[in-house]
Order: sequence, then structure tokens, then C-alpha cells
Amino acid sequence: MNSRRPALDVAVAGGGMVGAACALALARRGFSVALLEAGEPPPWRAGEPEDLRVIALAPSSARLLDELGAWRAIAAARISPYRRMCVWDAASGAELGFDAARDGRAQLGWIVENKLVAWTLWRALEAAGVRRVCPAQVESFEQRGDRVVLEPGEGGSMSAALLVIADGAGSRLREQAGIVVRGRDYRQRAVVAHVATERAHEQTAWQRFTREGPIALLPLAEGRSSIVWSLPETRAREVLALDDAAFSEAAGLASDFRLGRVVDTTPRASFPLRLQVAETFVAGRCVLIGDAAHAVHPLAGQGANLGLRDVAELASVLGATRAAACDFAAPHVLQRYARRRRSAGTLDAHAFDAIERMFAAQTQAWAALRGLGMRAVDAIEPLKGLLAVHAAGGN
Ligand SMILES: Cc1cc2nc3c(=O)[nH]c(=O)nc-3n(C[C@H](O)[C@H](O)[C@H](O)COP(=O)(O)OP(=O)(O)OC[C@H]3O[C@@H](n4cnc5c(N)ncnc54)[C@H](O)[C@@H]3O)c2cc1C
Repeated sequence: MNSRRPALDVAVAGGGMVGAACALALARRGFSVALLEAGEPPPWRAGEPEDLRVIALAPSSARLLDELGAWRAIAAARISPYRRMCVWDAASGAELGFDAARDGRAQLGWIVENKLVAWTLWRALEAAGVRRVCPAQVESFEQRGDRVVLEPGEGGSMSAALLVIADGAGSRLREQAGIVVRGRDYRQRAVVAHVATERAHEQTAWQRFTREGPIALLPLAEGRSSIVWSLPETRAREVLALDDAAFSEAAGLASDFRLGRVVDTTPRASFPLRLQVAETFVAGRCVLIGDAAHAVHPLAGQGANLGLRDVAELASVLGATRAAACDFAAPHVLQRYARRRRSAGTLDAHAFDAIERMFAAQTQAWAALRGLGMRAVDAIEPLKGLLAVHAAGGN
């Protein structure tokens, strides 16, 4: 073992939304932190149109971002609260509705541009004392006794007592840590676009489950809706090849014209979808967070929220250990984080997968059963309340 202490307490590899939030949370708890990111996030500018990538942020995520001193700037820039959620099944016609007012809340969550969150966090890092190393593609690392030694690209090395791996779903560093993932490729792509519709979105997140997959219309700040349309790969490619008029017609049809016709659309983009949960979230002095630990279907709008819950848990576990003057990267400490977050993340990931499978089944008997189930859940207010609390990041 090297007699000198590692240069840093924590190195975070990957400065997406989750990695940046983690670096900030740990720096605010007094750890010396470096964030290594392959490419600087593009700046968010007020005058520019809303970015195609948006996420539904749960109250638990807003709370964390608030603790990190980032929420006020995000909220002041451009967010759209959604107050209701309406989910319905094309086959059975059954509907499930959630209303924040019914639980005495102002909103269920917020639709926010990924770019805005990433940019706000990125800017806050320096003031919090985080050493930003960018561009830095971490190619390899080695665990040596009380430290992890990193090679952040061109020349030089860096040592830290703990490496937080936050390099996303396709994580190469997770692989290097010897951690395998389980899951399945959905063989679907999520097609995204922002659209203007005949009717107002009423600050409601709409989602229709069709034979081909779910289509969501999420309310944006400036009156448009963000479409997230999950489709089998070949069908997604067909939809991506449509011109604006044909895409608008197809999206209107798929959403059952719930907001009337689609009258205008942005260009489209698409993302591959997979279910993936790491077998363990810890290996020696390395921990996984965010999509590197778990990637989920977007139908529940929870991927980033799960990642931010990893951050809250890791910061709390490490912070408490540090306060007790113990080795914060000792295996039993990291295991505490890993146990809690892996069981919660696995449960959620498989619950979303079960929903995907349930709606993918298209026999009449299944559709009838699904309709019955949805109507029953919709009628039981306490059960709906529990589901809403869970989605919001409560217990
Ligand atoms: C269509 C769609 C809709 C979604 N909707 C929602 C939603 O409504 N709500 C929600 O909560 N979630 C949603 N998600 C999921 C959410 O987008 C992700 O869970 C979240 O962005 C993951 O963030 P991350 O920081 O873990 O990973 P990423 O965003 O993938 O960030 C990883 C970062 O690591 C960097 N990196 C990679 N390799 C290296 C390396 N070797 N060295 C240094 N840096 C590296 C990359 O440059 C990148 O910046 C959605 C996803 C999709 C596809």
C-alpha cells in the first residue's frame, strides 16, 4: 500500500446529469472531488427553442437539485409542471388518471430539458470546488490498495480513494470493473419530437398504450407537447422516414387525437431502448450510479429520477461515514449504498418491464384482463395514492 493518501477523495467518471449531481453532492459534503467528462455539455440558452430531450422530473429529484443549489436556476429558466397524468389502453379503452390536486399537491412533477439540468449542474461545479477535467475520456483505471488510479486520456494519472462510475448505459468502465449486467434489448426505439396540437395540453402528461407501443405527450412550457413514441425498430425507422405532414398525421392517430390533430412538428430523433441492471453496484473501490447501474424503459419516465436517487443515497451514506471519521470507501460502507439502491432500482426496473410486457400482450383475453385491472386500480384511491407517492420518489 502507498504510504501517501490518494490525491482525491472521489473521482466521478461521466458528467451527465447524474454524474454531475453526484460530484456536486459530494463536494457539498466536504469531499475533494474531480469530475472527468468526455465532452463539455452544450450550453442552454433562453432564446433557443426547447431541446428535443426532455425528462419528467419527480419531486424527489427537484428536492435533491434544490439541496444542490441548482433547482432555483432551473425553475427560473424554463420548466413545465404537470398536474395530471392520464394513461389509457387502446385495446380495452380503460383509463387510469392521477391528479395532483387530489393529494393536495400543486403538481405531480415537471417536464424539463435534459440540457438545462446538465448545464446548470455543470456551471455550479466550479463554485462548489469540484475539479472539472474535460475533455477527459477515462480509458482505464486500476485498483491499488487504498486507491483507484485513473488514466484520463492524454497523459498523466490521478488517484482517488473512490471511483464513481457514471458513464451511462453503455458504460465501458463498468465492464472494466468486472461488473456484468442482466436485462434485455427491447428491440424498440423511442422516437421523440415536439409538436403543436389543436387542443391545449392542460398541463397533463398523456400516455396511450397501443398495439405497437406507448406514445406519450408531455406538456412543454411554451404550449407544445413532447412526444415520446416507443416503437419496434423497423416501425420506428418507417416513422422516422415520414415527412412532417405524414408524421403529424401518424402521431395524431396513435394518440387517438386526444389533443386534436398535430398541426406542427420539429424534426425527429430516436433512441434505442433496453432493460439493464448491473449484477452489483460495487466492485472494490468503485460504485455505479445512474444509467451505468440501471437503464429502464422510458414508459414510466423514471430513468434519471432513479439515478438522482442513487446520488442522494450515496451522498448520505458517504457523508455519515465521514462524519464518524471512518474510511468512507471501506467495502461495508459501499455495500450499504449498493444493497439499498440495487434492490430499489431492480424492483423499479422490473416493474416497468412488467408494464411493458403487460401492454405488449395483445390477445383479447389479455386486453380484457388488463382493462379490468386498470379500471380497478383507477377506482381505488388509496392504491393510486401509493403509486403516485412512489413515482414521486417517496416511500
Ligand atoms: C426517450 C427517452 C425518454 C426519457 N424520459 C425520461 C423521463 O421522463 N424521466 C426520467 O427520469 N428519465 C428519462 N429518461 C432516462 C434518462 O434520460 C437517463 O436515465 C439519464 O439521462 C441518464 O443519465 P446519466 O448521467 O446516468 O447517463 P448519461 O446521460 O448517458 O451520461 C453519461 C456521461 O458520461 C460521459 N462518458 C461516457 N464515457 C466516458 C468516459 N469513458 N470518460 C468520461 N466520460 C464519459 C458521457 O459523455 C456522458 O456525458 C429517458 C430516456 C430516453 C431515451
